[in-house]
Amino acid sequence: MSIAIAGLSHETQTSLPEKTDLAAFTEDAVRGEVMLRQHQSEPNSAVGCAASVFMNAGIDVVPLVYAAGGVGPTVEDEVYDYFAAEICTGLEEMASSPTGVLLVLHGAMVTESRDDPELDLLRDVRNAVGEAVPIMVTLDLHGNLSPEMLEYATAVFGYHSSPHVDVGGTGERAARAMLQVIKGEVHLTTAMQKPGLIVPSLYSATTQWPAREIQRRVREWCRRAGVIDVSFFYGFAWSDVPQLGASAVAVTDGDRGLAEEIVDDLAGLAWSYREPLTRQPDLYSVSEGVERALDLARRADRPIILLDHADRMQDTTFVLRELLDQGARGAAHPLLYDPEAAAACQRAGAGTEVEVAAGSSSSDRAGGPVHLRGTVLWVGEIEYVGGGPMTAGRAITHGPAAIVDVDGIWVQLVSRRTSLIDTDPIERYGWRVNDFDIIVTKSKTHFRAVYEEVGEEIIVVDAPEYSPADLTRQEYRKAPGDLYPLCRRE
Ligand SMILES: [Zn+2]
Repeated sequence: MSIAIAGLSHETQTSLPEKTDLAAFTEDAVRGEVMLRQHQSEPNSAVGCAASVFMNAGIDVVPLVYAAGGVGPTVEDEVYDYFAAEICTGLEEMASSPTGVLLVLHGAMVTESRDDPELDLLRDVRNAVGEAVPIMVTLDLHGNLSPEMLEYATAVFGYHSSPHVDVGGTGERAARAMLQVIKGEVHLTTAMQKPGLIVPSLYSATTQWPAREIQRRVREWCRRAGVIDVSFFYGFAWSDVPQLGASAVAVTDGDRGLAEEIVDDLAGLAWSYREPLTRQPDLYSVSEGVERALDLARRADRPIILLDHADRMQDTTFVLRELLDQGARGAAHPLLYDPEAAAACQRAGAGTEVEVAAGSSSSDRAGGPVHLRGTVLWVGEIEYVGGGPMTAGRAITHGPAAIVDVDGIWVQLVSRRTSLIDTDPIERYGWRVNDFDIIVTKSKTHFRAVYEEVGEEIIVVDAPEYSPADLTRQEYRKAPGDLYPLCRRE
């Protein structure tokens, strides 16, 4: 027996200018034994954890390809063509036809001409392996799911946590269900219901009310007899696609009534929370948020966390400029993406005075470059193995980097886009999080796995970027017009 595993992942923000090209995926793509080894060294990898479940059961794993393009603008069509062909050819060329297929996808990828490439890929894979082969799919909690997915997938499994600390666990859930199906112990039935709302990622934090309550209910249903798995997907609000929106999915052992009862219950529960899932009062403008952070920092024992949730490209300058304007000292602004500014600081060298314009290369709504004049504290390029709950075991680099002190603000310039979700990007460079009074992050929910502990308080600012918390400010063309909160129906 053999199980083929393949992964393709992107979280697409369709309103961003530019396109995400093939290189963004091929750069870190892995295949075969390398893919298996790399993912099995990461405790939070769906591929790695699922592979371990299969291998422990004495089943061969055939690792085809895993390619993740991160987060960014609409993906070029050739990315889909390239990887769909590679996955389907890989399946067809297996020595004997696979006993099962596990696909590790995101659920919010969009290409130039494909609104739902994950659905298209599933259809292609189903055609390649035939009706009898089980196909299990893991998806990000922020996937926008088309109900048709369940026509091609045997079952889909979403993360239960945002911060996504259970990606590996989701792979295990899918793998265990696969084993049960292969052994003939269960006959899966699935149901999906979309409650008709979209949730900004900010409010999908499962450590916070009300998402915490929804996830509690998901776990309750998972414990019921006859239930194989349950997921609630919050959707990705900034993909303008027809299938936009939250989804509840239930997988049972042949009990259609139970599956429908579960998705009915979860969709109803999410609908009852529609107001706090889409709008909450403690959201500050950039200037008010920075002012409040400065005020709190004067009395705080631990850092104040300043969350700039609207920046998806890690290069907006609204918060940094405001910190400079308000004369903040002891603030850290980690991971500002600007390879050119980092290179300029590297040329200048540590200990020198520099003047560089930094940030805002992703779009004309990123705040414009901010003028930095200060002392270069550090230059170099490091690689490390991630130590955070989401990144454990992962080889990480930020590319050529520099750290500059600008009037008491610690600004870290990097050459790869990533958000601050654990303490590594500060501590691996030789500083400690407690060195700072204020720490800026542009993560949405992932930072909470670490910074709810590190921080004394979290201040959320809503910068005028492409990902506003208030979705009624966003323009949609393809999304259904009756989605809440676009249409505030009761
Ligand atoms: Zn996600």
